Amino acid sequence: MSKKKEIDDRFKKFGTVSFTSVTKVNDFIDRLEEGKVMGTRCKDCGMVFFPPRIDCYKCFSSSMEWFETSGKGRLVSYSKLEYAPVGFENDLPYCIAVLDYGDYKIFGRIAGDIPEEEIELGMEMKTVANRLPNGQLNYVFEKA
Ligand SMILES: [Zn+2]
Repeated sequence: MSKKKEIDDRFKKFGTVSFTSVTKVNDFIDRLEEGKVMGTRCKDCGMVFFPPRIDCYKCFSSSMEWFETSGKGRLVSYSKLEYAPVGFENDLPYCIAVLDYGDYKIFGRIAGDIPEEEIELGMEMKTVANRLPNGQLNYVFEKA
């Protein structure tokens, strides 16, 4: 009796363009479908990771737990893109940004419905799960 090898490709659902097909952190996508943006926390040393990692690079433990990125982050950097990588052309223009949550930072993009003149460094934002018009999943930053 041979067991059919299944390919875990849940990450295909992430982003405008799928960037990877197999990963150890696919639970991220299941949570995203539930509307939760998750990171991981090392149970041994307390280090937190976003994007989620399954192996801690500080203490090399693989004992991780998931946590939901909740609350407000502070906008510490952003940049408006007029040109984009192949596959992202239809999304232009959009702003990529970094939110600082204290223990971790999240790199992503600012929700397209926020006018650029309302975006300012230091403002509080939150990270929310988002479904793209083509059915793919990602997350965006909205005003907190
Ligand atoms: Zn650790």
